[in-house]
Formats: sequence, C-alpha cells, structure tokens
Amino acid sequence: MDLKNHVALITGASRGIGKAVAVRLARDGAKIGVNYHTGKAEAESVVKEIEESGGDAISLYGDVTLDVDVRDIVQKIRDRWDNIDILVNNAGIRRDKILLRLSENDWNAVLDTNLKSAYLCSKAVLPSMVRQRWGRIINMSSVVGLSGNAGQANYAASKAGLIGLTKTIAREVASRNITANALAPGYIVTEMVESLPDDLRDQVLGRIPLGRFGTAADVAGMVAFLCSEEASYVTGQVIGIDGGMAA
Ligand code: NDP
Repeated sequence: MDLKNHVALITGASRGIGKAVAVRLARDGAKIGVNYHTGKAEAESVVKEIEESGGDAISLYGDVTLDVDVRDIVQKIRDRWDNIDILVNNAGIRRDKILLRLSENDWNAVLDTNLKSAYLCSKAVLPSMVRQRWGRIINMSSVVGLSGNAGQANYAASKAGLIGLTKTIAREVASRNITANALAPGYIVTEMVESLPDDLRDQVLGRIPLGRFGTAADVAGMVAFLCSEEASYVTGQVIGIDGGMAA
C-alpha cells in the first residue's frame, strides 16, 4: 500500500497488534506516532525498528482514557508533522469475570480504555481531518463484540460499543471523505492469547475453520488496506479477521 505523505497515530502500539500495525504502516511509507502507556522501553524499540528500516516515528506517552493526555499526544504529532491523517484506536485491556462477580472498577476500566478512548481520540483528530477533506479511522473491535462471550461482559460491551461508534462516525463525516471502519479479530497470537491454558487453546483452535490462530501481521495487513486509496469506498464496516470463526 502507498501511504507516503500520511501521518498515523496508533494507540497502544508498544506491543502486540498495535506494534504490528505501526511497523506495517511505516513500511508502507506513513509517519507513525507510537502511543504507549506503561511500555516506554517497548515503544522506543518500536520507533527504533521503524527508523532502522528507513521510516519516521515518535513514541508518545499517554493514557488514552484521559482527555488531557489525548490532547497532548495529538499536539505532539502536530508539532512534528503538522497533521494526522490516520487514527487507529487499538489500545485495549481485558478484566474477565462473570457478570455476577464483575466489579464496577473492572467495568469502568475496560469501558474507559477500550471505548471512551476511541471517542476522545476521534474527537481530537477529526477537526483537522474535516478541514483537509481526508481521513481514516480504524477501531479495533473483536469477534466478541458481535457475539458476546461468557465472562467478558465489560469487554464485549466495549467492543460492541466501538461498532456503534464506528458506524456513527462513518455517517457523520462521509461527506468530508473520511472513512471509519472497525476490525473484529478473532484469536490473534499476542500476550493475550499466549496466556491461555493448553486445554483451552486446543478447544479454541477446534472452533477456528482455518485451523490456526491469527497473527498480528494478519490484522496489520487489513489496517493497511483500509488506509489506502483502494479502500476509499469502504466505510462503516465491521471486518472479521477470525479464520472463519464468525462464518
Ligand atoms: P496487548 O495486551 O498485547 O497490548 C495492549 C496495548 O494497549 C499495549 O500497547 C498497551 O500499552 C495499550 N494500552 C492499554 N491501556 C492503555 C491506556 N490506558 N493508554 C494507552 N495505551 C494503553 O493487546 P493486543 O495487541 O492483543 O490487542 C490490541 C487490541 O486488539 C485490543 O484493543 C484488543 O482488545 C484487540 N483484540 C485483540 C485480540 C487478540 O486475540 N489478541 C482479538 C480481538 C481484539 P502499554 O503496554 O504501554 O501500557
């Protein structure tokens, strides 16, 4: 994909899927803001990896649940490259428990990190996208945002909420040549999936028609496509990257 002259902010890009997206969009020519919260060293090593391949990136501290931090992240990108063309709302956490045991803290933490963050970041970048009549917003939802999942009421609600947010943004700013889409990954091999016990891993694999877990690169490839001109007529969609789980 040709993303030269584009600037991308990727939230939660210090590891996992966000890191793969950062590296992939940089390979396609975009300048990358690598946001992190606790993983300073990891984010700096993502920047180094991008720079060593001839790309341009900066690491940006910020808790995306806080408006003040989000504004600071966006300002730092503007100071360096003037604008932001691509926003990937990727930062996310899980705090799994059945609803009867789910504390208000765990509900709020997951909803704030996974959903409120996307509202804050989208609101912060949209005015300049509207002015320049071009933009791409990609929200990292999940298969469980479509199906629900026992033990993940907070996570599934946040991911379903992202779908509503995506479709609404798509409708509100389509006339300004801005697209908004959501991805619904299934089981992607990152720290989240690696921590599953062996018997559960086997059970999950049995439910994936393609017979393998996804990789962060599988997700990053779809993000790169959605950012490209080839995807300029795709908006308001939820695209599954799940090996056929939701088929
Ligand atoms: P990881 O746990 O590997 O990485 C999560 C990232 O989010 C880290 O970079 C972390 O930053 C960042 N983050 C967490 N809280 C905050 C915060 N308050 N402010 C800024 N950044 C924050 O997750 P994955 O790579 O597995 O998942 C990425 C996204 O994809 C998530 O939204 C997840 O829900 C979604 N997803 C993942 C699937 C999977 O199978 N892995 C399946 C479906 C969806 P730091 O380390 O610096 O704190």
